[in-house]
Amino acid sequence: MKIKKLLFFLSILYISGCSTHTITSNQTPQIFYNINVKNSEDDLFHVTVLTSNLTEKNGVYNFAATAPGTYHELDFGRFVKTFKAYDGNGNELSTKNSSANMWEIEDVLRLSKIEYDIEDTFDSEIRKNQPAPMCGSGIDDDFIAMNTFAILGYFEGLQSNPVKLKVEYNPDWVIGTSLISDENGYYTADTYDRLADSPILMGELTVATTKVGEIDVEVYVYAIDTALYAQKILILADDVLQSSKGFVGYAPVENYKFLMLLLSEEYYDTNQLMGGGALEHSYSSLYVQAATENDLPRLRSTMAHEFMHILTPLNLSSEIIHTYNFATPRASEHIWLYEGVTEWVSDIMQLRSGLITIEEYLNQFSRKLRINDDFDPNISLSKMSLEVYVDSVKPQFLNFYNRGAATAALLDIRLLELSNGKRGLREVYLALLERFGKDRPFPEDKFFDIFVEMTYPEIEDFINDYIRGSKPLPFVEYMAMLGFSYAEEKISEDTRPTIGINISVNEEGELFLIGVKNETQKFGLSSGDILLKVFGEEINIKTAREVLQKLDNMSIGDPYEMVVRRGEKEITLNGELLQRKTRHIFEEMQKLKPKQQAMRESWVKNLDR
Ligand SMILES: [Zn+2]
Repeated sequence: MKIKKLLFFLSILYISGCSTHTITSNQTPQIFYNINVKNSEDDLFHVTVLTSNLTEKNGVYNFAATAPGTYHELDFGRFVKTFKAYDGNGNELSTKNSSANMWEIEDVLRLSKIEYDIEDTFDSEIRKNQPAPMCGSGIDDDFIAMNTFAILGYFEGLQSNPVKLKVEYNPDWVIGTSLISDENGYYTADTYDRLADSPILMGELTVATTKVGEIDVEVYVYAIDTALYAQKILILADDVLQSSKGFVGYAPVENYKFLMLLLSEEYYDTNQLMGGGALEHSYSSLYVQAATENDLPRLRSTMAHEFMHILTPLNLSSEIIHTYNFATPRASEHIWLYEGVTEWVSDIMQLRSGLITIEEYLNQFSRKLRINDDFDPNISLSKMSLEVYVDSVKPQFLNFYNRGAATAALLDIRLLELSNGKRGLREVYLALLERFGKDRPFPEDKFFDIFVEMTYPEIEDFINDYIRGSKPLPFVEYMAMLGFSYAEEKISEDTRPTIGINISVNEEGELFLIGVKNETQKFGLSSGDILLKVFGEEINIKTAREVLQKLDNMSIGDPYEMVVRRGEKEITLNGELLQRKTRHIFEEMQKLKPKQQAMRESWVKNLDR
């Protein structure tokens, strides 16, 4: 009886399901992308977009103005070379390039096909606001790297519709992507967002695989330096990836792909590429950088960081970035979470799994604080987030990996203190992941309130002081709770003199001063000054090492002269060489009180939940 009823019920469902499908398939807009890079000699992506059932509302094809995780205005419409639209009979439809990233199609109801060519960003003539290589696209004889958002646009109103993509490429090549293809060789994605979240790397790649808990991990590598290949990189990074298992305790994704394009300094020079690093995606990350074997340790920690993005923003993000606004950059206040907490996780999970010692952890912590010294201490993490697209604040972004991570580390200690060692940031973070998750973004303006409500009223003060505000982080007090002393600086045992400056390189390749502190401020030095001469000699990228080597024959207290450019003015400054100092020193306290001992024990492990 029961079975029969069930069968009857099923057959009704089946019929209604079928008929619905027939109707909707006739009406639902269909979007099939095809990227042809079979002949890469012309250095262009040849894109065809086949469409049907578009409505009047879908008459604009938009290229991305920005993309998740890039925090930059990129305007990929700038790279379009030709753009044509056709109806089903092959008649051309009129189109209008109405703004940097928008193409209006006049008679969209008749639209059947768009064809366009778009160039890669790596060696484009467009130098202004050049996308960082891991945020763009590159075509070369031996490899092709694509952020899909750098090549494919979306129709107005159809960002959330399913799409399909076929890539035609050299059949001898290996292709790496987190996209999944159907039986007809089309990659399918539920939405444009999912497609945009999936970079593709192809070429003569080496491949290696491992499992991190239940997650299938694959590494795809194209490297100019043949000493770098997938298996070697994976062997080096495997232990740090494995250390995430205990921290996370479950598999937030089934698969994860590392896509790596490891170039050389010469390649960077020839193509005038600037910057490099990795861009996180939900199920993969794309790495583009100049690398040799010496860079493997750095690559390893970058991999740990990018991999931990499977927690946030994939499974914990604000409504603002959940359905992403590709057309108009919109900033979320919570980059402290997406980047700062992720960076903290990638360090603390190594300590808690026993991969690194407390001393090594504290050395990493000090290093972050020394880098933090080069950034503006008066801009809060909230402001750094909300004004990430503002030119004057943009350069501060990199400090999320330093001050952002340090703030997360102290938040962890504060939570451990308030919970008597029972519940730190990891445990609250995992609870937030359970409460929200992939399909449930948190409300942008309420997130801090939710965080406080899930923890302690005192946490509101922490947020106001150190995330919304820019009070100096209380290292002495907080680290003492764990039994560590902290000193901001100590006289170094190194007796060589120093000018006491840190130098960076701007987009024009000029050297400029960063993080100028009190002791050099008194000589008139100021952050942002462009360095022209030191010790009477011209200084630039090429001569810097040689000029600064003169310090070896000088003594503490010796006078020196420096010429800088500030705005339009050239200024000559006179200073004195300084004693070297070591900054941000953590040391083990001699005898721990029982409370410190207990806090330390809670801090070094993943607590029971
Ligand atoms: Zn990141």
